[in-house]
Amino acid sequence: MPGFELFGEQERAHVNDVLQSGVLMRYGFDGARSHWKARELENALAQRMGAKYAHLVSSGTAALTIAMASAGVGAGDEVIMPTFTFVATFEAILALGAVPVMVDVDDTLTLDPKAVEKAISKHTKVIMPVHMCGSMADLDALAALCRKHQLLLIEDACQAIGASYKGKALGSYGDLGCFSFDYVKTITCGEGGALITDNEAYYTHADHYADHGHDHKGSDRGAESHPFLGYNYRISELHAAVGLAQIARLDDFLKIQKSNYTILRKRLNQVPGITFRKVPEGGVENYSFLSFFLPTAVLAKKAQAALADAGIDGCFYWYDNNWHYHRQWEHLKDLKSLGFLPNQVRDNLPNYYKSDFSQSDHWVGRTISCLIKLGWKKEEVKQRAETMAQVLGALV
Ligand SMILES: *Cc1c(COP(=O)(O)O)cnc(C)c1O
Repeated sequence: MPGFELFGEQERAHVNDVLQSGVLMRYGFDGARSHWKARELENALAQRMGAKYAHLVSSGTAALTIAMASAGVGAGDEVIMPTFTFVATFEAILALGAVPVMVDVDDTLTLDPKAVEKAISKHTKVIMPVHMCGSMADLDALAALCRKHQLLLIEDACQAIGASYKGKALGSYGDLGCFSFDYVKTITCGEGGALITDNEAYYTHADHYADHGHDHKGSDRGAESHPFLGYNYRISELHAAVGLAQIARLDDFLKIQKSNYTILRKRLNQVPGITFRKVPEGGVENYSFLSFFLPTAVLAKKAQAALADAGIDGCFYWYDNNWHYHRQWEHLKDLKSLGFLPNQVRDNLPNYYKSDFSQSDHWVGRTISCLIKLGWKKEEVKQRAETMAQVLGALV
C-alpha cells in the first residue's frame, strides 16, 4: 500500500516549487506565492473521486473530526462505528464530545448492517463505515438505514482510496468521505488528510472550521470574520506538494497493487481451507491488502507465525493488534483521558466489557491480511505466492 516506496522526481519538483518561493502556508501571501499546492490537490482529488468539493487537512483523524463537525455532530450524539478499525475513529468521535457506539463486523471485515440496525437509538446521528484494508462495507444497505432513520453516512476511506462501489469512488458515496495521507497510506503527503462531499454547506463549514473559523472572504486574512468557532487543522504547502505528485500516480499505484494481489490470490485460491474476505456486490478493491480466513482462530495465529518464520513479512493478525481491534482498547473502555471528558461521554458510553462481539471475533479471529507492496518484482511476488501457499497448505 505505501506510496512512499516510489518517491521520485515528481515529488521533488513540487516540493522545490514551494521551497523556492518560501511560502509554506496554504493561505495568504498572494504577492510572494507562485503556487497553490493545497488548492490544486483539492481540485485533483475532487475530480478523481467524482465529488463536488474536497478539503485538505492535517491528517485523516482531523478529516474525520471535521467531517462530523461540519455536519453538526456534537456532544451526546451517537456515532455507530465498527469493532475493527483504527483508533482514530473513536478519537475523532470523542474529540467532539460524541459517543462511539461499536458494533460487529461481518465477513466483509466492515460494519454488519444487521448489527448496525440493532444499535440505532434516538441519539444516533451518524453511521460511520470504515473501509478497512482496501475493501468496503455494504454501502447500499447502510444508506438504506440512513434514509430510514434520517442519519448521516460518513465514510472512512483512509485505507481504501481508489476503491469503488457500484461505480462510485469510495468516500463519494456517503454524505461525506474521509482520506488519510499519512506516511503509510496508498498515497502520502507525509502527514495529511482530506474530506470530500457534494454538500456545499458541509464543505463551507469544513473550510472555515479547519482554519480557526476564518470565512476566507477577501484577500486580507486579518480582516476576515469568524462566523463560528473553529480550530487549526490546516495542511502546509510542503505537505500538499508531495500529495499533488502522489495523486497523479494513484492509478499507476493501483495497477501495480492489483497485479501483485492477483498473483497472490490465484495461488492461495488453490489452498484448500483458505477462503477470502467478502467484497460486497458491485465493489472493486484498491488491492492494498489481501485478506483471507483460516478455518479457525488457532490456525490463523499459527499461520501468521509460520509466514513470518518463512520470511513473509507484512502479514497482520488483527485480532491481537493494539491499534485496530476492540479487544485491546481498554483505554477507550475505561475512558482513560488526561483531563475530564464531557458528561455526555462519561454517562453514555456503553459498558464494552459487557458487549458481545463474538461475531466480530469469529471473523477477525480467523483473518490474516497481507500488505501488497508496490516495489516487488514480478518474480519476487511469484516466489512469495509459492512460499505462502506451501506454508498455509501445510497448516490446514
Ligand atoms: C490511517 C487511518 C486513519 C487516520 O489517519 P491519520 O492521517 O494517520 O490521522 C483513520 N482511519 C483509518 C481506517 C486509518 O487507517
